[in-house]
Amino acid sequence: MTERFTGIFTQQEPIPDEGIEAALRILKNGRLHRYNVVAGEVAEAALLEQEFAAYTGARYCLGVASGGYALATALRAVGVKPGEPVLTNAFTLAPVPGAIASMGGVPVFVGVTEHLVIDLEDLEAKIALTGSKALMLSHMRGHICDMDRLMAICDAADVIVIEDCAHTMGASWNGVPSGRHGAVGCYSTQTYKHMNSGEGGLLVTDDEEIAARAVLLSGSYMFYHAHPAMPGPEVFERVKYDTPNVSGRMDNLRAAILRPQLRDLDTQVARWNERYRTLEDGVRGTPGLTVIERPEEEFYVGSSFQVLLLDWAADKVREVVKRAGARGVELKWFGAEDPAGFTSRYDHWRYAPSEKMPKSDRVLAGIVDLRVPLTFSLDDCALIARILRAEVGAVHQQA
Ligand SMILES: *Cc1c(COP(=O)(O)O)cnc(C)c1O
Repeated sequence: MTERFTGIFTQQEPIPDEGIEAALRILKNGRLHRYNVVAGEVAEAALLEQEFAAYTGARYCLGVASGGYALATALRAVGVKPGEPVLTNAFTLAPVPGAIASMGGVPVFVGVTEHLVIDLEDLEAKIALTGSKALMLSHMRGHICDMDRLMAICDAADVIVIEDCAHTMGASWNGVPSGRHGAVGCYSTQTYKHMNSGEGGLLVTDDEEIAARAVLLSGSYMFYHAHPAMPGPEVFERVKYDTPNVSGRMDNLRAAILRPQLRDLDTQVARWNERYRTLEDGVRGTPGLTVIERPEEEFYVGSSFQVLLLDWAADKVREVVKRAGARGVELKWFGAEDPAGFTSRYDHWRYAPSEKMPKSDRVLAGIVDLRVPLTFSLDDCALIARILRAEVGAVHQQA
């Protein structure tokens, strides 16, 4: 009998009961707007910011409307001006170059290695070539590069680092939480990330002026005193006349849903990693398939799983995707000619022209990707691995 998987790759867990109760309280009192509080009340959004600052060890935290909004706000808050080049990963998702383009920046793509992280040699070369003063570093699919080396390179060249931690909330490098190496860390709380409020984002920094500008940008209507996780009014005085309002606030309903999820985050991370290791153990050693070995310094969150079918012909990869799909295993491929679903690629983003990157193209053409929602059991993951191993094996043998 041929085994078939029947789980749904896009099905997340329900919101915890505590979150549902908190959401109902907000719905009943009607004070969804974060600055709509009664005397003595601290808004859910403000409490979430305080708690997320404590979780990451950051001095300041701001809740916003989406992860992409957090990225664009960070760029504006650090002072990137329209027309300036902003370095970013060739292997990332559309909201990252999109955030750069949204504020008039010019994305410059940096290559990807076989470990699925940014190519630090290419980073040095592109810094020298473009003179860019900003890097938007995407920890794409949770793969974290050697952050100590990356920061040394960027510090030496006076390049400010903004981290896209959409896939690394709860992860760390050498014990330092992801998002805490660069000047700003940005997170998403969209449904497919590590906490789920439908849409939403968080931004952390230790820099008081970046923090104050981010609050003003997000649309604070000068209610900046209502942010316990922010610097004092004297910092806002310095920047408030020069910072436009680009509304994108977090609201109390989403914050109420997120606070209990933040309390559970480390437990959820452990559950993701059990599933990730089950997948990895299950496919390791499959001929033609390369497992992405993770460095010891990296504490990752295995909310998605990638393997490489390196140097395979495109139609063979397509056949694996098709055969696995027929058995219920939904694989995404980063080598496709055209953007499909969430898998677009640097050379699809025509608003940001780029040179061909043959070394990166070779890697991208081999990346096969799957989501690991927590609604999958460990047995589910073992089954998915068996199907992947069998179908990769079958197609590889024909080659
Ligand atoms: C989801 C995502 C974002 C942005 O998140 P939104 O909340 O959807 O705007 C940024 N970067 C990466 C890599 C993502 O996957």
